[in-house]
Amino acid sequence: MRNLSAIEQARRVQGNNASGRARCHAPVSGHRHAQHTAPRQVRNRSQHSTWVRPATVAPLLVATLFIAPHLVTVANASTRPERPLPLSMGLSEPLATQQPAWSMTPFFGPELGTIWPSSAVAAEAQGETTAFHFLAELLSGYFSNPCTDPDADANGAWRATHPPGRSVPSTFTDIQQQQAQQMVTWLQSPRPPVSSGAEQALADTWASAQAASDGWAVFSPQVTTLDALADKADLQQYLCTGALLGRGGPVGIHRALGQYLLAAGANLPSASSEDLFALDDNHPDVHVHRARIATLLANTGLPQVQCASAAAVCHTMEKTMAQASMGLGKVSLAQAQHQAPAFAWATLWQTLGLDTSARVYVDLPAFQQMGTMLQTHALQDWKYFLRYQQAVQAEPFIVPPNHDGARIRQLDDPAVAGPALSAVYAQRCDPQRIEMAKDMLAALVAQYKDDVVHSALDAADQTRICTALDTLHLQTVGEGGHQTWAGTSPTASYLANVQALRSSQAQRNAQALRNATASTPFSLQKSAHHLFAAANCVQAEVMVTQATINGLLDTFGDSPEGRWATLGSVLGHEIAHCLPVIGGLSTDATRVFERRAEAIRQRVENIQVNGLAVDAALVGEEVGCDLSGHSAARRAGMAEAEAEGRTFDEVLFFRVAAQLHAAHPTASQLATLLASDHPPPSVRAGLVREVEGFEAAHGCTPAPRAPFNRVI
Ligand SMILES: [Zn+2]
Repeated sequence: MRNLSAIEQARRVQGNNASGRARCHAPVSGHRHAQHTAPRQVRNRSQHSTWVRPATVAPLLVATLFIAPHLVTVANASTRPERPLPLSMGLSEPLATQQPAWSMTPFFGPELGTIWPSSAVAAEAQGETTAFHFLAELLSGYFSNPCTDPDADANGAWRATHPPGRSVPSTFTDIQQQQAQQMVTWLQSPRPPVSSGAEQALADTWASAQAASDGWAVFSPQVTTLDALADKADLQQYLCTGALLGRGGPVGIHRALGQYLLAAGANLPSASSEDLFALDDNHPDVHVHRARIATLLANTGLPQVQCASAAAVCHTMEKTMAQASMGLGKVSLAQAQHQAPAFAWATLWQTLGLDTSARVYVDLPAFQQMGTMLQTHALQDWKYFLRYQQAVQAEPFIVPPNHDGARIRQLDDPAVAGPALSAVYAQRCDPQRIEMAKDMLAALVAQYKDDVVHSALDAADQTRICTALDTLHLQTVGEGGHQTWAGTSPTASYLANVQALRSSQAQRNAQALRNATASTPFSLQKSAHHLFAAANCVQAEVMVTQATINGLLDTFGDSPEGRWATLGSVLGHEIAHCLPVIGGLSTDATRVFERRAEAIRQRVENIQVNGLAVDAALVGEEVGCDLSGHSAARRAGMAEAEAEGRTFDEVLFFRVAAQLHAAHPTASQLATLLASDHPPPSVRAGLVREVEGFEAAHGCTPAPRAPFNRVI
């Protein structure tokens, strides 16, 4: 399929450049991009109406945060050449005018999602992974002084055992790996007596992945169906019905750019395919590529004598398909028929259950290109091409990886078993932990309210903010919980089960396409088993996945101090994002927030990392949220300890708060991190020094400037 995630990335980059900044992830944040807002996006929930200023309602493009399992996918997409952006169709509702519906700034920042593995980084990482380096980190941790370098003090030893790599090792990647391991353990153990459809589907699929493989024999039914196609009308029908089947084909429903859309394109066998298409047919790399296609076709049972010429046809066709520019437009059936008349749109509309009056987003140039190819290529060419395309998609599941973790990564794809994994993870988690997180959020809100009533804000503003804070609530997010799964079987092949899962997801996508105007933005469909935390200020929600709660508690939750320093600080950070966007505040209050933001920028103005300056204007908001989060969490933890007659170990609290941001980037990775609106992990770890209580707890000489003590 066309690499829509690359386009999404490119679109973000363009958006960033337009605003004069080179950020690494979706830059949209409700309060900072008020001009893009569209009030119609907001649900009318009166109890939340005080939350957002009218001008700031709407934007909700999630800064997509795929932690570890998706890291490579994201990264590969990002390193491809940018394609023309889908802004040029001149249709009534080009996608570019569709402003994102929500705004969230994930706590974890882009550090896990935007370090792009490359051979250069790998070589650099290798260079930094020396015995000397290990010793240096260890010694720096051992001799470090928390007063001058809290990051080295808390994380030096951790870094010594976590050398740099192709992706940045961090506390969060550690936690994500732990949660993935937890999932493997669950999948290997007997299912609970009361099990869900998701449990059943995953158990079937997991068992089949571990069963002895029949090799390419499982692919033969697909070959038989393809061979039976009698004419071009048959072919068109086959292409359309393929959109709902899991076998792989040029037509499908995709989730991209915050929308469901009809897409067409080739399954590309590797990330470098698009570069390959620029090469002359006599280039050695092209010969290698065609040989690989020929091998794939031979694996599917195509007679050897046909493989070389069939591979040449397939290569030409995938290259032609990839040449189509991108252009998304929202069209009706009649408009689609007018724009790309050679394609059987009525059949597709009917297959997907779309009303003839329905208007959906379509990547029209791709369908135009496919229409031309339907006219110019013989039926036999198409049979070769589709056979190859399906083989590309089937191959990883015909010869599955023999490592459990790799199989989990293989299944953990939104189009395959991602939603089922998410559902199973959520079902197996301890609900008491969510209750504990809710209680912590309430305690943090109490600290915020206390600061508000002690602030310089006037009484009306104070009341408005406190009323808004009272509506704030914890929302655990995770897709898959209400979905049904069908078609898997413990006796079916791994490929058949994966195709059944894909087909289930395709059916759900079709449903979403039919309900396009009413559907929840897919950007809210985070996986329960991935790390994610964000504030949805429009809905007065602090959003977290269960993996975030579990991961932080499993890793740091042994002590109340560790729990408050991590989960408490994360939740407190998210509350802070919403404070300045509460609706109806006076201009005086706005000025108070602006002065405060300026003061926070001044705290980071002179910070340097590896000789590179931190951009205070860029990271100011996140720094402010970190400081507020630590401050509120510390005081909420102390209040809890006092109520329970315990002492609160502040040194431990600050140490663990710094450990939350342990990471070990290479120099070039660090340079990339510095272009993000989340400060680099070492800076975030060092921020604990700014918080009231740190100096006293560690017996440090007070810094020239006053410690950060209240959230407002
Ligand atoms: Zn944030």
